[in-house]
Amino acid sequence: MTDCIFCKIIADDIPSAKVYEDDQIFVFKDINPKAAVHLLVIPKIHLDSLDNLKMEHQALIGHMMLKLPELAQSQGLNNGFRTIINTGPDGGQEVGHLHIHILGGKGLARFN
Ligand code: AMP
Ligand code: ZN
Repeated sequence: MTDCIFCKIIADDIPSAKVYEDDQIFVFKDINPKAAVHLLVIPKIHLDSLDNLKMEHQALIGHMMLKLPELAQSQGLNNGFRTIINTGPDGGQEVGHLHIHILGGKGLARFN
């Protein structure tokens, strides 16, 4: 039994607004959206963060990255989107299961 909230979402022990799923990744809406569209893309295997990646995860990370445009477009983001990966306490990571934020649409604040 895992304590990881995102592993529980993958196992459907905690409900989520699922957007996409395949053999490697699970994608759902952030419960506290920071813009009109705010998705979280997570690997189905538990990885703490970017800090824990090894060469064996190369294909999985590539798959996650390559899926991002399709996922953004599936939510109507046809003119660009933002991705964020927070890593570790000083990087603002609150959930210890690697995730890529996809943000876009109304309410997206300027970043720089
Ligand atoms: P981070 O600060 O990068 O770790 O982001 C964690 C994100 O997970 C935050 O944006 C939260 O709103 C989101 N979150 C936490 N719990 C849930 C949940 N049960 N369902 C969907 N999103 C969640
Ligand atoms: Zn997990």
